[in-house]
Amino acid sequence: MDIWSPAKVDQDRPSTWVPFRASLCSSCQATCCLMPVEVSVEDLVRIGIVAVEETQGSLKKLARRLEKEGFIKSFRAATGLFLLAQRSGRECVFLGPDRLCTVYEKRPDVCRGFPTALGPRVGNCPYKKKLEAVSKIDLLQLAEKSDSFVVGPKRCST
Ligand code: SF4
Repeated sequence: MDIWSPAKVDQDRPSTWVPFRASLCSSCQATCCLMPVEVSVEDLVRIGIVAVEETQGSLKKLARRLEKEGFIKSFRAATGLFLLAQRSGRECVFLGPDRLCTVYEKRPDVCRGFPTALGPRVGNCPYKKKLEAVSKIDLLQLAEKSDSFVVGPKRCST
């Protein structure tokens, strides 16, 4: 069951994006958190899933652990960047069932800069309005279908 409203905006086509305003976030279904997110090892330390000591060793070995634990999808040795894992609906592994970032205060730098300083179309975002009323039953059903929700969502993304 898709409980989120359809929209013409396509996160994969920046030409369809709308001018960003911070006030949009509270009514958005967090479409920006369905896009691929590459993060640094420093981001992962801040989030709390990597210890500082681990950054001194092999990043490839670290990537294998993070992949096994479901935090990342892949690692690019050439750039030293990790691609965060996504669930089947393309949601970032850190997106909560209420469409809020569960690590908002510690979120990666790329998320902090998007879309005002970073992104394929700076100043614009893939805003999609969520349904006016999403029942608690719908949210519970959505949570039951997800395999790895992170508990304790904090705030809106961006
Ligand atoms: S803001 Fe949070 S949920 Fe959204 S992409 Fe970044 S880390 Fe993931």
